[in-house]
Amino acid sequence: MDLYEFQGKELFRRYGIPVSEGRLATSPAEAHEAAQELGGPVVVKAQVLTGGRGKAGGIKLAETPEDVEARASEILGMDIRGHTVRKVWIERASDIAREYYLSITFDRGAKRPLLMFTTHGGVDIEEVAASSPDELVRLHVDPLEGYHPWQGRRLVYDAGIADPVEQKQIAAIVERLYEAFVGCEAMLCEINPLIVTTEGEVRALDSKFTVDDNALYRHPELAEMRDVAAADPLEALAREKGVTYVKLDGEVGVLGNGAGLTMSTVDVVTFVGGRPANFCDLGGGGDAQGVVDALDVITRDPQVRSIFFNIFGGITRCDEVARGILQALGQMAIKLPIVVRLDGTNAEEGRRLLEEAAAANLHAEATMLDGARRAVELAAAA
Ligand code: GDP
Ligand code: MN
Repeated sequence: MDLYEFQGKELFRRYGIPVSEGRLATSPAEAHEAAQELGGPVVVKAQVLTGGRGKAGGIKLAETPEDVEARASEILGMDIRGHTVRKVWIERASDIAREYYLSITFDRGAKRPLLMFTTHGGVDIEEVAASSPDELVRLHVDPLEGYHPWQGRRLVYDAGIADPVEQKQIAAIVERLYEAFVGCEAMLCEINPLIVTTEGEVRALDSKFTVDDNALYRHPELAEMRDVAAADPLEALAREKGVTYVKLDGEVGVLGNGAGLTMSTVDVVTFVGGRPANFCDLGGGGDAQGVVDALDVITRDPQVRSIFFNIFGGITRCDEVARGILQALGQMAIKLPIVVRLDGTNAEEGRRLLEEAAAANLHAEATMLDGARRAVELAAAA
């Protein structure tokens, strides 16, 4: 789960990482009030779950409360890379001398958290990694040993920070960021830019904070931070129904049993020239109600032109899936063409059930590749 900048900064504050004082506003009038409370020049920052807000015009400096109100009314409602701005964060403006970059993420290859630090902040870190990889300092933390203070010092020295006062502040922030990362069971904690002010104070000017969804049950106070209104409505419905669903941009609805098979199905649909409309995993059981719920979610996407069921029965029994499909069709009057590939446990029984039903929009295919081709053809013809 991704957090908004203002939520990430609230967590930073709790862990002792310096941030600027700010207020949240959902209307220009609230922004005006926030600016009055803060006093002096402020920054109006669009709160959206995507980066590059500055470039998109979602971050503006403002001097007076009137000015803030005007900037807020420009930014609220703005579309930033497909995200509508519903909230702005008003914070005391900083006088920036330098912009650095600091993050902790998981290095899945090394199976360890990875610290990254560079003095080339404020820009896309991918650019730094590509153009000056030597200046991006990387250091792993052994999760069993935990963090050692020398690690913060190593990052700072290797990045070429010479000022001892600055070194000390940054090393302390690295340590606290690691505490936040572990304490919140985060997948990513990124500060870009980590600034040095003209007074020499180091502060987090931005926050990108991703919490592990699978750990949220241990952190109810973080789970509450989820913005239900900003979530894709289909994904929200799927969550409610307990369907594992990720919305994609294409036309072929994809359903599989097991995450691995479903991902392969997405790949194969792409491979034969189609575009998957979603990822949907029926899971191991795949009972009739699960199929009904999954189809309900998938068919609400108006972009879907055909549906491809790819089932390999292991624990999942194909006859059970076939019954689920037929039950769903009985309940929902789906007009879209549905291609079904059933293989594995009770596949013959499953196929027989589908054949007997003789529904005009059901198409059985024997292999995954043929099934994908058929579903893509039918999507193009629809
Ligand atoms: P992003 O574009 O979504 O990454 O948003 P950031 O919060 O990182 O802000 C982008 C840029 O806006 C920063 O790199 C700064 O250059 C600038 N900016 C943000 N806040 C301030 C501020 O308080 N003072 C000044 N002078 N610039 C700021
Ligand atoms: Mn940023």
